[in-house]
Amino acid sequence: MDTKVVARNVAEPPVEVEYYGLERTHPGRWASKCPICKGGVLLVHRNNETLEILAQDNCMLCGRRFVYTDVGEMRKMDRGGS
Ligand SMILES: [Zn+2]
Repeated sequence: MDTKVVARNVAEPPVEVEYYGLERTHPGRWASKCPICKGGVLLVHRNNETLEILAQDNCMLCGRRFVYTDVGEMRKMDRGGS
């Protein structure tokens, strides 16, 4: 990945995505495949103190930033609820 491309992607406004529409890297894990570059990974980040899942994420490869529009569902799932 070209570092200039990464720098440009990081500077772009975040892309809104539905977490539950993304493909997971491994079953049972939170990480998803990047819907833009396809080769990168969105790890899913948490608040350091509350451990609550954050809506903002970024691709480890292309640097593209994302916002999960369905973060409420993710948090519910994380708490083990339905
Ligand atoms: Zn990517």
